Amino acid sequence: MRFDILTLFPDFVDGILSESIIGRARKSGILDINAWNIRDWSEDKNRRVDDTPYGGGKGMLMAAPPVYACHAAVADLDPKKEMRTRTIYMSPKGKVLNQKRAEELSREYDRLIILCGHYEGIDQRVIDEIVDEEISIGDYVLTGGEIPACLLVDCVSRMIDGVLAAPECYESESIASGLLEYPQYTRPYEFHGVCVPDVLVSGHHAKIEEWRYREAWKITEERRPELLSGLISPDEKKKKSRKRTGKADDPEILMKSEEVLKENNKDIVKKERKEASD
Ligand code: SAM
Repeated sequence: MRFDILTLFPDFVDGILSESIIGRARKSGILDINAWNIRDWSEDKNRRVDDTPYGGGKGMLMAAPPVYACHAAVADLDPKKEMRTRTIYMSPKGKVLNQKRAEELSREYDRLIILCGHYEGIDQRVIDEIVDEEISIGDYVLTGGEIPACLLVDCVSRMIDGVLAAPECYESESIASGLLEYPQYTRPYEFHGVCVPDVLVSGHHAKIEEWRYREAWKITEERRPELLSGLISPDEKKKKSRKRTGKADDPEILMKSEEVLKENNKDIVKKERKEASD
């Protein structure tokens, strides 16, 4: 997927989007991210791009001509319009970004041209002429559109094939899965006297799945109860899966899994102590 970011601070944007997962996806060619300096299209001898607003008021406004010229030049890089392209203006007046919209953008377009405002914003006439959609990153105001643009690129890119190791990486996460994510743990098994929940070292996959769903449900109920509407509760889910498999939890299997769990815990602690003393 291609991203063209129109900004007054291309180095800022380029820096953020050169690190970690996004940086690697750029290097491997999965993502093509370009930051363009709107000043390069200014006709002013001092490369100015801002002016005072008509009607008075505090602050400066980005003028229409350099923004328009920059956008026209960048859009023209695909003269035959072969790429499904959308021009987005990052703006606190836009619709607030969510996972669903990011997923649609990743699926429906090959290229996003992202316009970053600065100062008090941009002359409305050029917004009306070139912008397809305005996106906000939340109900607060930042000094410029650069951080919102990076945020949009990051969020959309994670859903492009090959950027993450596997689609499950984002499908099981908070929001995308419908619930906030369950708590996760890694080594050491014991940290400051707190051990990893037993079920996670039991090797009992169905129990682990059930525990994760219950925990995800619990945290969502506490923090974002509105997300739960239309989802099935952990108890309903359990009932459904019992109906599907036609059997209740087999007490023998459960006992066995308890034993495995105890053995696993012992092994983990032993192994970690040995590693620490080596
Ligand atoms: N005067 C504008 C208003 O009241 O709507 C705010 C301008 S803001 C200081 C400068 C630029 O930062 C905007 O043009 C926009 O590109 C970006 N920006 C600020 N807050 C944002 C947000 N919540 N979401 C997306 N972009 C934002």
